[in-house]
Amino acid sequence: MTGERDADCLFCKIATGEIPGDVVHETESTLAFRDIEPQAPTHILVIPRSHQPNVATLAAKEPETALALLDAVAAVAEQEGLEAGYRVVFNTGAQAHQSVFHVHAHLLGGRTMGWPPG
Ligand code: IMP
Repeated sequence: MTGERDADCLFCKIATGEIPGDVVHETESTLAFRDIEPQAPTHILVIPRSHQPNVATLAAKEPETALALLDAVAAVAEQEGLEAGYRVVFNTGAQAHQSVFHVHAHLLGGRTMGWPPG
């Protein structure tokens, strides 16, 4: 794995294979796996292999990986057949319901989404 790593981080452990994940897409710098508590028919988490706590630190410290993450989101959406539409969410900070502090894009699709989000 390139970049940073946090030995106590759940998603770092999924990225290295130490903890299994239902992986649907991989690149050199990203990994995508199904969420264990899906909130939509398709709910996939797309992460950088490198440990950054949130999207702001990823963009500031590893902009090329941030771009690779967005490319991976688009590739997974196409792979999953979400042409009718999908939502991409980066919960950032505890007030926004971030519970795992390794940046991840939630890719949600397969149903009509409500707005505004809760
Ligand atoms: P957050 O609340 O935005 O940080 O999202 C964390 C997500 O990780 C939640 O949707 C959880 O359901 C999901 N999650 C937690 N542990 C695992 C796991 O071991 N595998 C897959 N998804 C997980």
